Amino acid sequence: MRSLWNDLEAKQFQGDLGLRVYTSRLLGRDKSLVLHGGGNTSVKVREKNLFGEEETILYVKGSGWDLETIEPQGFSPVRLAHVLRLAELPALSDLEMVNQLVTHMLKASAPAPSIETILHGLMPQKFVDHTHADAVLSVSNTKDGEKRVREVYGKRCVVIPYLMPGFDLAQLCAKEFKRQSTPETVGMILLSHGIFSFGETAREAYERMIELVTLAEKYLDSKRAWSVAPRASRSARTQVPEQPELRRRLSDAAGAPLILRTVTNERTLGFAAHPELGRISQQGPATPDHVIRTKRTPMLGTDIARYAQAYRRYFEEHALTAKEPKTVLDPAPRVILDPAFGLAAAGRTAKDAAIVAEIYDHTIDVILRAEALGGFQALPSQDIFEVEYWDLEQAKLKKGGKPAAFAGEIALVTGAASGIGKAAVAAFLARGAAVIGIDLDAKIESLHSRPDFLGLRCDVTDEAQVRFALEQTVIAFGGLDMLVLNAGVFPASRKIADLPTDEWRHAMSVNLDANLLLMRAGHPLLKLAPRRGRVVVIGSKNVPAPGPGASAYSASKAALNQLARIAALEWGADGIRINTLHPNAVFDTGLWTEDVLAQRAKQYGMTVEAYKTNNVLRTEVTSRDVAELAAEMCGPLFSKTTGAQVPVDGGNERVI
Ligand SMILES: [Zn+2]
Repeated sequence: MRSLWNDLEAKQFQGDLGLRVYTSRLLGRDKSLVLHGGGNTSVKVREKNLFGEEETILYVKGSGWDLETIEPQGFSPVRLAHVLRLAELPALSDLEMVNQLVTHMLKASAPAPSIETILHGLMPQKFVDHTHADAVLSVSNTKDGEKRVREVYGKRCVVIPYLMPGFDLAQLCAKEFKRQSTPETVGMILLSHGIFSFGETAREAYERMIELVTLAEKYLDSKRAWSVAPRASRSARTQVPEQPELRRRLSDAAGAPLILRTVTNERTLGFAAHPELGRISQQGPATPDHVIRTKRTPMLGTDIARYAQAYRRYFEEHALTAKEPKTVLDPAPRVILDPAFGLAAAGRTAKDAAIVAEIYDHTIDVILRAEALGGFQALPSQDIFEVEYWDLEQAKLKKGGKPAAFAGEIALVTGAASGIGKAAVAAFLARGAAVIGIDLDAKIESLHSRPDFLGLRCDVTDEAQVRFALEQTVIAFGGLDMLVLNAGVFPASRKIADLPTDEWRHAMSVNLDANLLLMRAGHPLLKLAPRRGRVVVIGSKNVPAPGPGASAYSASKAALNQLARIAALEWGADGIRINTLHPNAVFDTGLWTEDVLAQRAKQYGMTVEAYKTNNVLRTEVTSRDVAELAAEMCGPLFSKTTGAQVPVDGGNERVI
């Protein structure tokens, strides 16, 4: 492992807190040190308060921030003196500890400080870095982990037996640090949990972390336990037809729609086919806080009922002996291993599922290295249960907060690179859905860079490309809940007498035939949608009120309208709703070049401005107006409506 410290980069950060931000980001950049939300860092700074008195402020990572992207305001400024006084108490509950820390910060708007704040405060050094480094966990999570850790670090690190993060752990670390540390001590290993490093400067603490983790890497290498890629017995393809059904059953077990991200590659296939998978995968996570994301164990195969039963047993067994009454979490697995597809990761959002997949990717490394070293050994299930069900997590549950309307659901939008389609992508993302945008235009691929969006170049008139797009949807997110049929062409104005056959056929092919392909191929997926499938067709005012010179467009949209009505009749039994919007005069779309706009205005003998607001309400209709209504039509307001046609046109006299 190499230090990523760069003098030029570092110069952009000022002061102790600035450099604390910089090296925290450096830690966050390396996923083998820190995964999403994991790890924490701090710095102790002398500051003058409002009254001119000097005091030491402990800036410690706030909850909800990732080290990789942390900003100065991501650090909670806590008065160190109070932290040290708290540490003297004989006992302190987690909830009271958080209350004490939050009420002794300098800034009311700062995030709640890390649960490991007291531990950071008790360490005498100015800068304290904490990670869950893969290599350290690989050495520690073995049968004689403590002996091996001491062998690797000698006097350089204090070694602490496992204890759940919180007040007791902070006290134990302070006591053990005093007892074990020597002038050579620069770090601390928390067995089965992670590693701390210390320094008087940001750079020193960071580079000690790198140095200490490198020692573990070298140790693993010297024991032939470093390069341990699982061998795939054969190359398999993601079992696309089966994932939507699996996702449906998972969502039913979870009581809410889940995203299912499938990762099929040599690594995941090899691990899922490991001859000792039952033993090595069913012990527990690499470090306890992963349990919040991954649950304690992956599901092997696809028998969800069996997994859920075992999960409830695990809950009941440990809840009985807990001090506080516990609320059971949903029993659906978050990690699934199957030799047919490798790994699948489930989450309430696409981001959650991506995090689960990433955590497990690292868990595979930790397990295989620990195996090569002498046998992977995770913490007993009781310890994992305590983290999964600790008071603070349970308190979060009770506070609840409503999930986004489409959390866990998947929408596919055609013609998504511009205009109404692009606005629809935004509308569905804003409501928490994972979105696949497809378009002929290559710019769709870079429309958004986020885990809940997939942009694919696709010619919707080509059946093979449509099938490919749906396959990618299933691999990335697990299924399809909502379909927005928006892609269309609007040929230049032409009288029937002058209309070339190929222009007519092209309009029919894009505006009508392509939608049949998508509806036909999408139907089996929509049928499996946990909350029932929904389709929105972007029609046109020209359906109820055609205009001269637009025969190909009007006829193709009218035929599409009829197709949608028949789909509403045929798919009602599957619970799939299909409704149509008839926009008119939406000028911020890809269809409306200035040329076309000028032509159409002339057709009606108007200026372009008058043409734009030529409706009963004298208002301009935008892509966003149409897209927002399309999203709402997939929501609960329209849950009893199918086969409807709703104008979005500012009121059109001919339609009314
Ligand atoms: Zn930790």
